[in-house]
Parts: sequence; structure tokens; C-alpha cells
Amino acid sequence: MQTNFTPEQLLDPGVAESEKILRKCVHCGFCTATCPTYVTLGNELDSPRGRIYLIKDMLENGRAADEQIVKHVDRCLSCLACMTTCPSGVNYMHLVDNARAHIEKTYKRPFINRLTRALLALVLPYPSRFRLAVTAARFGRPLIPLFKSAAALKPMAAMLELAPKSLAAKSSYAEAGTHKAKTAKRGRVAILTGCAQPVLAPEINEATIRLLTRLGIEVTVPKGEGCCGALVHHMGREEAALENARRNVDIWTRELENGGLDAIVITASGCGTTIKDYGYMLRLDAAYKEKAARISALAKDVTEYLTMLDLPEAAYQTGVTVAYHSACSMQHGQKITRQPKDLLKAAGFIVKEPAEGHLCCGSAGTYNIMQPEIARTLRNRKVKNIEATGASLIATGNIGCITQIASGTRLPIVHTVELLDWAYGGPQPSCVPQAKPVLNIAE
Ligand code: SF4
Ligand code: SF4
Repeated sequence: MQTNFTPEQLLDPGVAESEKILRKCVHCGFCTATCPTYVTLGNELDSPRGRIYLIKDMLENGRAADEQIVKHVDRCLSCLACMTTCPSGVNYMHLVDNARAHIEKTYKRPFINRLTRALLALVLPYPSRFRLAVTAARFGRPLIPLFKSAAALKPMAAMLELAPKSLAAKSSYAEAGTHKAKTAKRGRVAILTGCAQPVLAPEINEATIRLLTRLGIEVTVPKGEGCCGALVHHMGREEAALENARRNVDIWTRELENGGLDAIVITASGCGTTIKDYGYMLRLDAAYKEKAARISALAKDVTEYLTMLDLPEAAYQTGVTVAYHSACSMQHGQKITRQPKDLLKAAGFIVKEPAEGHLCCGSAGTYNIMQPEIARTLRNRKVKNIEATGASLIATGNIGCITQIASGTRLPIVHTVELLDWAYGGPQPSCVPQAKPVLNIAE
């Protein structure tokens, strides 16, 4: 694509990067076919190509964002299906991140929209605040019909609907400390605790730590580590996202230098995509760019890391049929497609792949709160495809997808690692229907 930026405009590193990305796009439109918002809304401006034109126009003319561009960029899920499809290697992720940062700097959103976004940024990244908010949401539930009646308040209704009715107690596994290897030590990793996941599903990291320590891996939960920054990053709050990134880079670098780390194990693929991008996000920060690149290289989804280990034969053949939902951040963001399914199959599960597996479930960070109608349409389509597999259980690798899909189906949904922990001698996940495990002959 031809671009017309002035040399002065290109002095801005965000604009210079965007220009490089824009020049790669050849307008072919292949990406439209796999874009969930284009497939749902049928509007070119809600396709990757349409958004690319809007972003180009805004940046080239040095314009402040307007209502039209905000509407169509806000509707983008950042699912990155377009990056998987694009034959020209257009880095849509970095382009839309730059556009969101530009919008944040130049556009004044309506009051309720600003308030909702501020509330999300103030609460979600902090586990103690999030826990309080979920508890308080119980009292707000009767207001759902009222919130639904006003367009601007629909995100509030979605927030209350998505809040779980009960919460698990705080897990000791989320506390800083070291979990020693239970068999001959063969590695040491740090695990990301994160923000929303330890509140909503502490059992995910519990299963991960149990499984890894049984496999001879020492797992450390470093003190002070927190939200990866994805949430505010996707809101265009660049500085807040970089602050999160710098804090985590410092903490993991300290662990790396003191005890050594083979990997930083991540159990939420949305966070994994962002942490793997720390090297890029901090590329202009002389004090951090090298450290951040080192941390990004160490970041591994738990299934990626488990694939690198030589796993023993599973303790049981559960024979359970599982529909594997590949989160967008897993398949498009990190290009991890084979490992989770291979691990499940090797552990004795029968794995089914739902149709239209490339399409987002509508979760996408805070998307299911901010764009509840599109999110619900996508969720229902996803659930229909999953249920058509006839599986008795759903497995996935991202807490956002777990919450979103669970809100639309009666099928139990768990993190892939919970099933692997079970198959390799851990407890059966509580929501899994009674299975009759067959002890392996070797056991
Ligand atoms: S990130 Fe997803 S929703 Fe956004 S343009 Fe690409 S395919 Fe469409
Ligand atoms: S597929 Fe790639 S090159 Fe083609 S229009 Fe989409 S982003 Fe541009």
C-alpha cells in the first residue's frame, strides 16, 4: 500500500512503525473472510482491511480520532485471526495497538464510556480489588434489567451478568514462594499469577504447580509480580501497560539472576501474547529493551513448556471426550496450535475440534463487557459449534474464554492443564462429569 507520511511525521516512532506495517498491506482482502466482526456485521469498516484504511487515513492526515474510527476500532476484538490469514505478513496487532494509543490521546469519549473504562482499569488488574468487586456485584444484579434498557449502560449489565455467583477461597498457591520439585529436580520456572485468574479460577495454577512439581520442576511465584498489562494495553493506555511490563521484567530478571529460570510459565494465553511482546513494547526504552527481550524469550504457555519435557505415560486413560477450544491469543497470538491437543491425546483424552475454530468466542479481554451484543452473538456461535461435537467437556487455555463460554453452555469447561494434572495423577477437576478412569497397565 502506498503511504504519504511527511519526514516530520515519521519522527514519531509509533507513526514510523505504523507506516512500515501499512506498506505491507496489498488490499487483497483475504483477511476479511476470517474476521469475526466482518463475518458477524458484514460491514467492510468492521473488517481488518477497512480498519487499516481508517487508521491510515487518521495517521497520515495527523488527525485526532473521530467517532467513526473509534466505533470501528473499538469493535475489533484484537483476536488476530487476520494476522494468521494475511499472506503479506501485515502486523495488524502492532498497528491497532498504535491506533488505540492515538485514540486514547486524541479522543474524548462520552462520559459513561470513560467511566466504565476507568472502572475496569482501576479494578480488573488488581486481584484484591477485583475480588471485592465480584462480591459487590451480587448486590448489583437486580439492576441488570435497568442497565440493559439504556444503550450506554449495557456494559454495566454485561459486567454484572459475567460476575460469578460465588468465588473460591484465596489459594495459597497464589502466594509468593517456592514449590520444590517432588521428584528428582530437572528444572526451575517462574509462574505468572496474574490478576483476574487467581480470583476466578485459582485451580488452574494449583493444577499447574502440582503437575510441574511432580514432573521434577521447581516452581517459583515471585513476590510483587502482577497483571501483565494486556488489559490497559488494549485500551490504548500505553504508559500504564509499560509500567506493568517494567515491573514484571524487573521481578523476573531478579529471579533469573538469582535462582536461574528455564521459563516463565503462563497459564492464560491472553497474558502470554502480551508478555511475549514485552521486547517490542519496551524497544524504545534503553534501560529495559534487552531485559524485556530476554523475558519475552523465556515466556512459555504451560502447554508449550510441557511439550519440551519428556512426559511419562499418563496414570489413567480417562476416555473422556473433550472439545478443545483454541483461544485466539493461543492460536493467532502465539501460534500454538498443536501442543495442547497433542498433550491431551497423549494423556488419554479423545479430542474433538469444533467447526470454525478460528473464530473468536467474543471474550477478548474486556470486549464482552464493552461490546456485549457482538460478544454474545460470537459466544452463541462458538457454543453451537462446540456442542455439535458431542463432547462431554470443554478444554481451553485462557481464563477469558472459560468465563465467556461458560456463560452460554451447561457443558463443564476447564483449563487444559487441569485435565493433564488429572491424567498424570492429580485430582479429578470438580466440574468434570464422573468418568471411570482405566488404570494404565504400566501402573
Ligand atoms: S483482530 Fe480480529 S476482529 Fe480485529 S480486525 Fe483482525 S480479525 Fe478482525
Ligand atoms: S490479508 Fe493482509 S495484505 Fe490482504 S488486505 Fe488483509 S491485511 Fe492487507
